[in-house]
Amino acid sequence: MGKSVSEYVAWVRERAHAIWEREGRPEGAHEQHWTQAEAELETEGGAATTNPGDEAAPGTPGAGEDICRDCHGTGRIDGKLCPTCGGSGKVMEGIGGG
Ligand SMILES: [Zn+2]
Repeated sequence: MGKSVSEYVAWVRERAHAIWEREGRPEGAHEQHWTQAEAELETEGGAATTNPGDEAAPGTPGAGEDICRDCHGTGRIDGKLCPTCGGSGKVMEGIGGG
């Protein structure tokens, strides 16, 4: 089970586009829509184990993306895949967390 990173990205992109249209196609809100789309998809339980890789999302704005503090962006801890970021070295900051 589980979606691949590219499937996930395509999924988020589609959702983000839907949100954009839903909000009247505002300019300059791509990052917000992208983050919102991810939040919605996670709520639906589809992204629980998936970390979007940076290489799979060309042109993706960096909003909400941060260097993983556990592996310091290397994606590895003691030679093992970092469980926090899934090896991408980056983590997505959650929105609506407070
Ligand atoms: Zn990490």
